[in-house]
Amino acid sequence: MEMRRVTCQSCGASIEWDGRFGRAVTCSYCGSTFLPAASPIQDAWLMTDRVARARYEYEGTLEKLEQDVRFEVMRGEDWSELDLAYLREIARLEAEGKVRKLASFWAISPHPPIYRAMTEGSLQLGARSMVFHKGDEIVWACPMTRDRFELDLPVLIGDFQDERTQRLCGVMSNAMQARMA
Ligand SMILES: [Zn+2]
Repeated sequence: MEMRRVTCQSCGASIEWDGRFGRAVTCSYCGSTFLPAASPIQDAWLMTDRVARARYEYEGTLEKLEQDVRFEVMRGEDWSELDLAYLREIARLEAEGKVRKLASFWAISPHPPIYRAMTEGSLQLGARSMVFHKGDEIVWACPMTRDRFELDLPVLIGDFQDERTQRLCGVMSNAMQARMA
């Protein structure tokens, strides 16, 4: 049987797959189970917090969010290798107890979950390593956030409730500094 690869819908890891749709696949990295989509890497929901998605669903605006993610966030392309590396790293750190998912998510689409560092550590993205300290908040940064904060990696680390950050955010759109509780 010819083995193909599929992207885990929880952590973004690339895993072996027998190519059969409609059969659950278990991720060997994070242990989650999912049904492969027709074009897994283009899954628009890879970065979206589940509660955020559920809210749009409840309000009947899920399709609008998906359009926004596909064309404004993904800009009509696939997630990058760095995006997928971020998902793998955050899943690893969560499994190791080094970060914990908070009950809030980034205010801007695609509303990625926000994590809190429980200890010092680092994320390995390609050849780069991003250090975080205990108490830091970590979030995946969409292209817009990357542009605004002049990030060359798709990750924002800091204290998003910190005074200094608030002032820095003051020059940006209100949406940037706000968090949906
Ligand atoms: Zn996984």
